Amino acid sequence: MRIGAHVSASGRLDKAIDRALEIGAEAVQIFPSPPQGWAFKPIDEKVAADFKTKAREHGIGPNAFHGVYLISLGSPDVELARKGTQSLVSYMNAAHDLGVMGTIFHLGSHRGRGFEACFRQVCESLNRVLDNSPDDTLLIIENSAGMGDHVGSKFQQIGALLREVASPRLKVCLDTQHAFAAGYDLTTPAGVAATMAEFEREIGARHLVAVHCNDSKPALGAGVDRHENLGEGRMGIAAFEAILAHPAFRDVPFYLEVPGFEGTGPDARNIDILKSIRQKLSVPV
Ligand SMILES: [Zn+2]
Ligand SMILES: [Zn+2]
Repeated sequence: MRIGAHVSASGRLDKAIDRALEIGAEAVQIFPSPPQGWAFKPIDEKVAADFKTKAREHGIGPNAFHGVYLISLGSPDVELARKGTQSLVSYMNAAHDLGVMGTIFHLGSHRGRGFEACFRQVCESLNRVLDNSPDDTLLIIENSAGMGDHVGSKFQQIGALLREVASPRLKVCLDTQHAFAAGYDLTTPAGVAATMAEFEREIGARHLVAVHCNDSKPALGAGVDRHENLGEGRMGIAAFEAILAHPAFRDVPFYLEVPGFEGTGPDARNIDILKSIRQKLSVPV
C-alpha cells in the first residue's frame, strides 16, 4: 500500500517528484495543466523523460494525473462534453509519455436531467477517450459526493458504466470524503465492510486502482465535497484505521488531497498519520 499525495507540478512537471520526497510521499498525483481551464500545452520530451527517470530513481509511484475540473461528460451542453473528451485524450497521451498509470477524473453534472438520461452520452465519451489513447493508460472514474447533480455518487452508477463500456482500461478511484458525503459510512470496521461489500457487488474490487484519502468537513450524507486533514474532520482517525485494515485496499495507492495543517496542501504530518496506521496494522508497504 503506497502512501502518496496530490502535489503541485508548477514550474516543471518533474518538480512534483522533489515535492513528494520533501513530504515523504511514496506516489504522486498531479495536474499536468491548470485544472481550471481547457488549455493543454504539449509536454516537452525532455521534461517527460526527466519526470519518468526521477520517479523511477526514487521509487515514487504508481503516479496519476487528475483531470481538469471542467470535465462533464454527461452534460446536456454537447460542446462542453466534447471538450472534456478531448482534454482526457490529451491527458492520456501525456500519461503514457510520463509513465503515469492514467487519469483520475470526475464525471461531472447531468444538470438535473438524471443519470439515465445521460448514460448513453457518457458511455460514448468514455469509449472515445479509450479508443484514442495508449493501451498502457487507465481511465479512472472517481466517485462523487453528489453535489450539484454530479454523476457517480452511488457505486451502482459507476458499475453500470463499467459494465456497459466493458474495457479492461476503465477503472475506479474511491475518494473517502466523497463516499462519506454520499452516505457511505466509512468510520467503523462494520461500515467499511458494508461499503466495500456494496463496492464489490456493484463495481468489483479488482477495478479499484486508487484511493483519494481525505477526511470530511461535512457530515455523513451531506452531499458536499469538502476535504479535511486526517483526524480533523467528521470521519476521524478511527475511520482511516478501519479503511487501511480492509483487504480491498491492500495493493491500492492512496493519494492525500487534504488542505494541510499549514494550509499548504498535503503535508508530511498527514502522510505520517497514514504511515503510522499502516505500520500499526502491519500492512505491507
Ligand atoms: Zn478526490
Ligand atoms: Zn473532492
